[in-house]
Amino acid sequence: MTDRPFLVAGGGIAGLAAALGLSRVEKSVRLFEQAPAFEEVGAGLQMSPNGVRALQWLGVWEAVEPACVIPSEIHVRDGRSGGMLQRLRLGKPFEEKHGAPYRVCHRADLLGGLARTAEASGRITLHTGTKAESMASSENGATLTLAGGQTEHGAGVIAADGIRSTLREAICGRVSPAHRGHTIYRALIPFSAAPPNAEADCVTLWLYPGGHVVHYPVSNWRNFNIVAAIDSPPAEPGWSTLAETRELRVAFAEACEPLADVIDVPTQWLKWPGADLDSLPQWASGHTVLIGDAAHATLPYLAQGAVMGLEDACVLAAELRSGSVAGAFSVFASQRMARTTQVQNQSRQQGDVYHASGARALARNAALKLAGPSIMSRQTDWIYCWRPPE
Ligand code: FAD
Repeated sequence: MTDRPFLVAGGGIAGLAAALGLSRVEKSVRLFEQAPAFEEVGAGLQMSPNGVRALQWLGVWEAVEPACVIPSEIHVRDGRSGGMLQRLRLGKPFEEKHGAPYRVCHRADLLGGLARTAEASGRITLHTGTKAESMASSENGATLTLAGGQTEHGAGVIAADGIRSTLREAICGRVSPAHRGHTIYRALIPFSAAPPNAEADCVTLWLYPGGHVVHYPVSNWRNFNIVAAIDSPPAEPGWSTLAETRELRVAFAEACEPLADVIDVPTQWLKWPGADLDSLPQWASGHTVLIGDAAHATLPYLAQGAVMGLEDACVLAAELRSGSVAGAFSVFASQRMARTTQVQNQSRQQGDVYHASGARALARNAALKLAGPSIMSRQTDWIYCWRPPE
């Protein structure tokens, strides 16, 4: 293998994690991020055991863990009656079963931990304020063309430029995100401002006809993260369109009191369209490869998008330990595609189940109550039990 650096385009969770993974297997990396700094806006993240294991493998868990919160339980409730449908304890037995804990954090805390660890690694050079425009594979490596026309050459290019990836075109042609008829809303408030009846120390999921709401504490109990999704025509693209509380009040007009109180917290809601990608036929071509949301963006209803990017980073790095770069990229893609496609499909189905109304909602609620936590385990065990490469 060549000693030239690998070039990573995009410094989100997947790109920074890939850079760290490569440095762990003694490759040097140059990472190009279009934003002027690694400052994440955005929402909270549920870090399931497979994500924690990936962070441990990447050597970054110590940097992220202090900002994480240990929620006591996951509650699933009916948004109209307020009734408890499912209750999952997250303490010791859960950790022992999965071999790693479950945490919640803010994306900024995760991104900050990844960026600080990358800066300290000695093998990673971070270039902010640098937009990548295209990539091309050649016989001995790959080229990244930056805005302004400058070209960079490396052993391979890893495109981690998110769901609206521009570099993806080099491998798959033009692919647009698929809007799934949902608008997603988010709000972040001080933890002390969480409504008293919100059971703020838990992860709570409210199911409602045509929508759902999730909330949990983040940033070492400083803030309270609220995300809502409602069935609707696509909102404007981007993460930060201002939204009116009124839109949520209308969608959740018959909410029980604790849910109505959460929706009515005094805050500025932001919204964006719920979108994912249809499965791509190919992620790798010669010395170029797609990872993270650029390859397999998913709806957030299984809370696995970022975690899949972390898993990608571990598998990609392990494949690059030996053999050719093009071979490693191709094996990586074939190893990861089936799993991420299943996560994409299950996340879409989960949205339908969460938003069910009428008889379907009654049947869902009855099944959740009857089966107890085993129904949740059946849906997530295959995801949470993932192990990083040796
Ligand atoms: P991005 O985060 O989109 O990062 C791409 C980066 O590339 C950005 O920094 C961008 O500025 C940069 N970039 C883009 N184009 C260029 C270019 N041309 N040149 C240079 N740089 C470029 N996941 C979970 O695991 N758990 C959760 O609980 C969870 N909850 C979620 C809740 C919500 C509401 C949403 C929307 C998502 C959630 N996700 C969750 C999903 C997760 O946030 C994403 O899957 C993850 O952030 C994707 O990371 P990424 O690095 O692939 O892409």
